[in-house]
Amino acid sequence: MTTFPELLALQKQDTTIDQLRHRRAHLDEQAEVDAATKQLAAAQAEAAPVRSEIDSLSSQQRAFEDEAAGVEAKAAGVEAKMYDGSVVAHKELEDLQADHRSLKARQSTLEDAAIEVMEQIEPHRAALDVIEERIAGIESTLADAAERRDAALAVVDAELAVDEAHRVELAEAVDPGLLATYEELRARLGGVGAAVLDGRRCMGCHIELPSADAQVIRGAPESDVVTCTECGRILIR
Ligand SMILES: [Zn+2]
Repeated sequence: MTTFPELLALQKQDTTIDQLRHRRAHLDEQAEVDAATKQLAAAQAEAAPVRSEIDSLSSQQRAFEDEAAGVEAKAAGVEAKMYDGSVVAHKELEDLQADHRSLKARQSTLEDAAIEVMEQIEPHRAALDVIEERIAGIESTLADAAERRDAALAVVDAELAVDEAHRVELAEAVDPGLLATYEELRARLGGVGAAVLDGRRCMGCHIELPSADAQVIRGAPESDVVTCTECGRILIR
């Protein structure tokens, strides 16, 4: 004979639901997602300064190239003037030739500088390729873990929905006063508001009650709500 069997059923259901909620909050898949997210952030933080170095060098390279193109155009203008027949004075022609030589030398220096910067970019690009390959790997791990996490969540949520609906039915079967006491104890005592008295042992706190207390509890009328003298939980006799 068990006292308050409907309360015991409710406690069992609440324990099941608490376990499911705990499982939901501590999914291995979520830990995998968290780890991959952290790795991804670290890899992206590693890539960022390399990318910005490449960007900075690339704009240096472009600046040299643009300047070289400008000087080249200028040299072409001087060359055109040398041969368009407009300049006849020997001295003026010599000056133009000197200008042209100096512009071509400047163009060549700028082109060399552009090439030098381009060569400086190469190792950074190689390093970035390695990091980006790693990022792609982490992203794929993350997507896979997130997919499995979502699937695991869906399973737990479906179970929870069924168990919570059943919990409502079980709670309706418990006397409202007893239910209120149980809820209050459950909230205060780690989710366990009612426990079976097994011999002299309260299965809520796992302490053996003194013989005298146990005897009084056992002798109490079935309709009496008795509580553990150690932990205060409702005892199911
Ligand atoms: Zn107890």
